[in-house]
Amino acid sequence: MDKPPVLISEQAIQKRVAELAEQVSSDYANKGDIVLIGVLKGSFIFLADLSRKLTIPRTIEFIAVSSYGSSSTSSGAVRLVMDVRGNIENRHVLIIEDIVDTGRTLNYLIGILESHRPASIRTCTLLHKAEAAEVDVDIDYIGFGIGDEWVVGYGLDFAERDRTLPYIGTITPDD
Ligand code: 5GP
Repeated sequence: MDKPPVLISEQAIQKRVAELAEQVSSDYANKGDIVLIGVLKGSFIFLADLSRKLTIPRTIEFIAVSSYGSSSTSSGAVRLVMDVRGNIENRHVLIIEDIVDTGRTLNYLIGILESHRPASIRTCTLLHKAEAAEVDVDIDYIGFGIGDEWVVGYGLDFAERDRTLPYIGTITPDD
């Protein structure tokens, strides 16, 4: 099968992830340690790269929600599949997302995590589809703004395929 055409190259991703890590490290420099919460599954590669480039003390948690299943149309409903395991009360939380599309998932996640009473919550996403925004949600760190197209690679899938591509590519789903 042909590889998806490149939208954002591996080099461009690595450069931007390094910039984000520098910015996050400087913003949290005097705040003690932070907890990075990766949203499964799509954020796992971004989280791995970003977390290793930070220069501040950090720990890692994961949370899982169901959103689009294996198709590429939003069901509109977001459901919690796995909550964080560690105690995040009074800690500085940084949510790590692969992509923010309508904003519903991030908005839902902020609500869930607020119930754990962290000291603060900020949000970081590698990709942002600004045109697709339906819910007003604050995003503190954005890697790249992209158009309203389906992207795969660097953790993102289409029907579980293409997650391990080293770059962000585009595909045209048939459904
Ligand atoms: P939202 O709730 O913001 O509409 O959607 C967020 C979730 O939808 C992401 O975490 C991701 O799972 C999925 N998503 C939205 N757009 C894309 C895309 O272009 N490619 C992939 N692989 N997932 C997407």
